[in-house]
Amino acid sequence: AAKGSGRDHVHLFTPSLREAARWRLEVASRLREDAIDQLVVHYQPVVRLDTGAIEGVEALVRWQHPERGLLPPDAFLSVAEETGQVIPITRWLLRETTQRAAAWAAEGLPLRMSVNVSARHFSAETLVRDVRVALRESGLPPDQLVLELTETSVAEDPTRAEDQLTVLRSFGVRVAIDDFGTGWSSLAQLFALPIGTLKIDRSLLTAAERAAAGETGAVLAAIVGLTRTLGISSVAEGVETPEHLRMVREAGCDLAQGWLLGQPMPAEALPGWIRRVHA
Ligand code: C2E
Ligand code: CA
Ligand code: CA
Ligand code: CA
Repeated sequence: AAKGSGRDHVHLFTPSLREAARWRLEVASRLREDAIDQLVVHYQPVVRLDTGAIEGVEALVRWQHPERGLLPPDAFLSVAEETGQVIPITRWLLRETTQRAAAWAAEGLPLRMSVNVSARHFSAETLVRDVRVALRESGLPPDQLVLELTETSVAEDPTRAEDQLTVLRSFGVRVAIDDFGTGWSSLAQLFALPIGTLKIDRSLLTAAERAAAGETGAVLAAIVGLTRTLGISSVAEGVETPEHLRMVREAGCDLAQGWLLGQPMPAEALPGWIRRVHA
């Protein structure tokens, strides 16, 4: 099953090999034609651990497929990455999400908006322009936009990554390193980059269920200590249980995200959800 499926009513998607080959072709051609119109964005709350306040949201793309239902990103983004379609998709997402955040702010609900940027787009010339256009058109204050990049996408070409991040930082947008702990990148290189946030991959919390919880706690605390020293903020991903929440609080993480704290949900549902949960 695709990860992340089910909870926010994303359909399970487990094709056989032959189906998978057909699916890739279908995705590639559909994404070229009408699929961008069928993409939807769900938003998952990012919560401050000290106050419980909602700091912002992460935008997670889904495809409202006319026959197959709501598909998770894993079902189509890797194909989009190969064909290059991920670039127009992210360009659309940057527009959609910055406009959404600007509209929420105008309604008295300012939320920091995190958007995932694929490796392919990060290494493309257009990213800087796409971000600039989205900010200009939406009027969103740049520090309300966070671009999430994986360790692997910055590690591919550290020199270029640094130049690219320096330009993006000069606009005032924030940069987060996503899925930290899964990429095995050089820490020295990673932390030389102008990043503002480290998102600690949920595999660390999953590991806690197998290993001694104390060990995971120590690893988490060490990572958080490192972020403090570097003056960047930390987000724990995949907080699913009260035990996870206790561990990330104890380790001193600034922020957290996970099913326990809030599922990804459609834009229309978010303001009401925040009012209900944080009244
Ligand atoms: P990610 O950036 O690490 O996003 C977090 C994923 O974890 C999301 O899966 C989210 O629904 C899921 N999640 C949230 N809380 C929990 C939890 O408590 N437990 C578990 N097990 N999972 C949780 P989703 O939406 O299926 O997205 C999967 C991946 O697809 C994302 O991982 C990201 O790498 C990529 N992705 C999603 N949206 C976009 C996008 O707009 N652009 C790009 N380039 N990539 C995207
Ligand atoms: Ca992410
Ligand atoms: Ca992540
Ligand atoms: Ca991930």
